[in-house]
Amino acid sequence: MKIKKKIIIPLVLVILIIIIILINPIRLYNKHQLKNLGYNETSINTILDNKLKDNVLKIEYNKTLDYIFSSKEFNKKNFDIYKELEYIELDDYTKNVNLLIKKGYNAKEINLILKSATNETLTDFLEKDYYENISKFLEFNFSKLENIDRYIKYQNDNNIDKELVVIYVNIGLDKEFYQDTTETSKFSYDMLINKYHGISEDFKPENLVDVPSEYGKNQKLNETTLKAFIKMSEDCKAETGNKLLVRSGYRDLKDQQDTYNTYLKSYGKTYTENYVTHPGFSEHHTGLAIDVKAESKDVFADSKESKWAYQNAYKYGFILRYKKADEKITGIKYESWHFRYVGEEIAKYMHENEMTYEEYYVRFLDKKG
Ligand SMILES: [Zn+2]
Repeated sequence: MKIKKKIIIPLVLVILIIIIILINPIRLYNKHQLKNLGYNETSINTILDNKLKDNVLKIEYNKTLDYIFSSKEFNKKNFDIYKELEYIELDDYTKNVNLLIKKGYNAKEINLILKSATNETLTDFLEKDYYENISKFLEFNFSKLENIDRYIKYQNDNNIDKELVVIYVNIGLDKEFYQDTTETSKFSYDMLINKYHGISEDFKPENLVDVPSEYGKNQKLNETTLKAFIKMSEDCKAETGNKLLVRSGYRDLKDQQDTYNTYLKSYGKTYTENYVTHPGFSEHHTGLAIDVKAESKDVFADSKESKWAYQNAYKYGFILRYKKADEKITGIKYESWHFRYVGEEIAKYMHENEMTYEEYYVRFLDKKG
């Protein structure tokens, strides 16, 4: 009896200890705490296995960390950088972050790199050597990672403000006009057509309608554009006594080729290149552009209608597209008569902020990649 008691007590103790080790109430408690913060099961195990619980409790919940902790690529050495990162939807996020850290980029730089990247451009970027001071070109939300070498070169060549460097390179101004052009087959009211962005042969403008003859002879325009123009023309008449008219609206590829050839014959190459765009690269292909005529005078710029239009066109969704100050950006010599319909919201913003449509497009409409 006595012997049995001597054995049973330590045996029970040993079993109790084994049970406690197996259940591990401390680990259970820690798990509970991390779960309450919002971490998922895999993350919690990574946190506990790497003894990072106290660090994580200080940070509370962090979506990026939760994602990285769950990844097989998690590397404890990089924890201090991980916790500063914003999560961005990209393939192989953790793996790529590790590669960027290895190259020498800090958390701020990695955030900017990932924000300006697509999956493709990031893959290319990771093959390049480390760039010093990369932040200065990537701090704008319209910066593009694939343009980094061009930003650096453009700033070296031109010595202008870095924000302008990014805008000008994104426009394409570091290349010759008509060099590396893109083509679009899709119509949209905010589409950009210039010497870098043309239309494809199968491009079809939307809702082309005839301009009523009292506003222009044998002309077609996009319907919304025409409606806005007629309203503008009538308001101009109410205030100045004369209407605005359509001298030239929609042109197809053949019309533009004919226009180009006519100018070439009469005025020579330099003049033609300054004023007439190559077929495929004219805004007139969209049905959204109008060469405006004044009712009272032949020279539009000298008319009272033009003065009224310069002040009021934005209220109807039109912008004067090729201004004197913007010739280097648009690649088109000043045209006092060429208006483009972009809609009231964009026209108002551009009127208040004095910018070319190229710049507006780069800042707000251009998609990455
Ligand atoms: Zn025009």
